[in-house]
Amino acid sequence: DLSNLSAQLPAHAAGSSIRYPHFINGRYVESVSGKSFENYSPIDGALLGKVSEGGKSEVDAAVAAARAALNGPWGSMSLNRRVELLNAVADEINRRFDDFLAAEVADTGKPASLASHIDIPRGAANFKIFADTIKNTPTETFEMVTPDGGDALNYAVRVPRGVIAVVCPWNLPLLLMTWKVGPALACGNAVVVKPSEETPATATLLGEVMNKVGIPPGVYNVVHGLGPNSAGEFLTSHPDVNAVTFTGETRTGTAIMKAAANGVRPVSFELGGKNAGIVFADADFDAAVDGISRAAFANCGQVCLGTERVYVERPIFDKFVAALKTKAESLKPGRPEDKETGIGPLISHEHRSKVLSYYERARADGATVVTGGGIPNMSTDLSGGSWIQPTIWVGLSEDSAVIREEIFGPCCHIAPFDTEEEVIARANDTPYGLCTTVWTSNLSRAHRIAKRIDVGLCWINSWFLRDLRTAFGGSKQSGIGREGGVHSLEFYTDLRNVCVKL
Ligand code: NAD
Repeated sequence: DLSNLSAQLPAHAAGSSIRYPHFINGRYVESVSGKSFENYSPIDGALLGKVSEGGKSEVDAAVAAARAALNGPWGSMSLNRRVELLNAVADEINRRFDDFLAAEVADTGKPASLASHIDIPRGAANFKIFADTIKNTPTETFEMVTPDGGDALNYAVRVPRGVIAVVCPWNLPLLLMTWKVGPALACGNAVVVKPSEETPATATLLGEVMNKVGIPPGVYNVVHGLGPNSAGEFLTSHPDVNAVTFTGETRTGTAIMKAAANGVRPVSFELGGKNAGIVFADADFDAAVDGISRAAFANCGQVCLGTERVYVERPIFDKFVAALKTKAESLKPGRPEDKETGIGPLISHEHRSKVLSYYERARADGATVVTGGGIPNMSTDLSGGSWIQPTIWVGLSEDSAVIREEIFGPCCHIAPFDTEEEVIARANDTPYGLCTTVWTSNLSRAHRIAKRIDVGLCWINSWFLRDLRTAFGGSKQSGIGREGGVHSLEFYTDLRNVCVKL
């Protein structure tokens, strides 16, 4: 067993050689094949460690362990005990806050100030909130009159779906993983998690927490690996998996949906976006600039809810562009632990190449680069990292790939608009439909827009303001289904109707 992985995960672990094993049936194990891949720091390009690459045998073992847990102590555990254990998981994450923070920051390079406010506390809260939800959500009953004039009573009970495959991205690793694992376990399922190959640490560390608080072996499993022809594909096509929940790119969702079609397994998908930000001239100007700045640049633009298309009403267009430029230029890149650091690196060199290709494309399509557009000058010790400049463009036409495709970097295009009708049409002109952020002081207009914009989440005078009881998910190609609050129960349980003739 690997005891205390966290001790090996300093915020900056250059030159170390950590092993990230799988966590199967309550134990840390290496791949039978001995295969592994390398994990690099986005901060300076240093080798962080080697991650075991799971194959079919690891996926088989994890799914079998999950099934055994369902047939064993986990399946027969009372709801009250399950709820107690999940609250203990949250408490233990909070007790080991610094370990989780160090692990998340090492993998992602994001500022510690951000991860300590969002990633880790939300990672813990996701266990508490769904423990509360499952405990406090009633099911339905219907009395009926039977054809012979008697009575019958229908009532519904929630039963777990079984073994859930949880496939995760790298942008908010612990938060997005527990957003699924929390409700899945609260509902009594067992899970096999496939973390992103870029961010193996916090999912691995969570195994220690599960063991410490007494979650039975096999309830929470982690198999590392890549997507196609690796752990991701083997897990999502495994015949003994009962449902697949996935957050990531729309293209990957298409592949997973095909895999899940064999055996007609249900899917819950949180996918890509190309979200519009809309600012009217009557908006609280400073609040709008601040909100759009966060939506465009937070987490180095690697937030599915982020805004890469901004529409600003013409009278304030020039002033807004200038103010957002000032904001972008105030974001200082630097080490995660430095208090002044305002922006971290992108997740990898590979992702930076993709983002830079859009920076090139913007120039080729005739954009005016308001700020940024390239790689910042970093000190020698950080020059091996995947740093990138926050970037603002104006002047592109709506058919540019920069405006149509998800870039997932710290960048946005700002365009002027003249009427409400026009801006709604432009905002909706996309195959995606995840979210929008609208800034106006006209209450009627705000509600009108909320009604007509094709998204799962519409923020008015705010962005990323989340009440975990509300429905979360995307329309159109941004997802399938809703999670959050009672909506998660819909996916992670089957509703069984019991009809009793009285
Ligand atoms: P990705 O789709 O490349 O990878 C996500 C996960 O899927 C990884 O664990 C990967 O190994 C796995 N995977 C890849 N191919 C697979 C296959 N064929 N079968 C099974 N698994 C496979 O996404 P990413 O680059 O890690 O994350 C960024 C994307 O995630 C962006 O598009 C972003 O918008 C989206 N995202 C959406 C939300 C949301 O809530 N809607 C939240 C965060 C991120």
